Amino acid sequence: MTAAGKKRKPFWEAKLLKEMDADEWESLCDGCGRCCLHKLEDADTGEVFYTNVACRLFDAESCRCSDYPRRTEHVDDCVVLKPGETAEYSWLPTTCAYRRLSEGKPLEWWHPLVSGDPETVVQAGISVKGRTVAEELVDEDQVEEHIIRWVRSDRKA
Ligand code: SF4
Ligand code: SF4
Repeated sequence: MTAAGKKRKPFWEAKLLKEMDADEWESLCDGCGRCCLHKLEDADTGEVFYTNVACRLFDAESCRCSDYPRRTEHVDDCVVLKPGETAEYSWLPTTCAYRRLSEGKPLEWWHPLVSGDPETVVQAGISVKGRTVAEELVDEDQVEEHIIRWVRSDRKA
């Protein structure tokens, strides 16, 4: 095959996370909303448990942050993802593109960059749309009762 006949790899396969520009980086987010769920961490094992309780800034309708540009001004512990070491992404859901790429895994068929359609994230059951409870409705000492199994980080200390 000639060089001209070779199909060019998409940026998420051709580049490392740290080589991506700002637009490429942002486009990796599939909009699933999983990282906006409250998590509990086992202090002994480091295991992370996801709950269905959504951050107070999470808009359940759009499944997006309601003030993404100023999110850290509202929510102190909102983590702004940046290119880093694989271990830094270990708390993220196993489905998250940043985590998958950092672990050398491909994007799944339902990722909007692959499918060309943001709805595939919902169709594949990856989106949290319609499956969350507002933070305001849950007492802090009841969050544990909201642990879910359909979002996992599988992190161990
Ligand atoms: S879990 Fe990953 S892909 Fe999903 S919303 Fe959060 S950053 Fe985006
Ligand atoms: S502040 Fe926004 S981006 Fe951060 S966890 Fe809350 S909803 Fe998600």
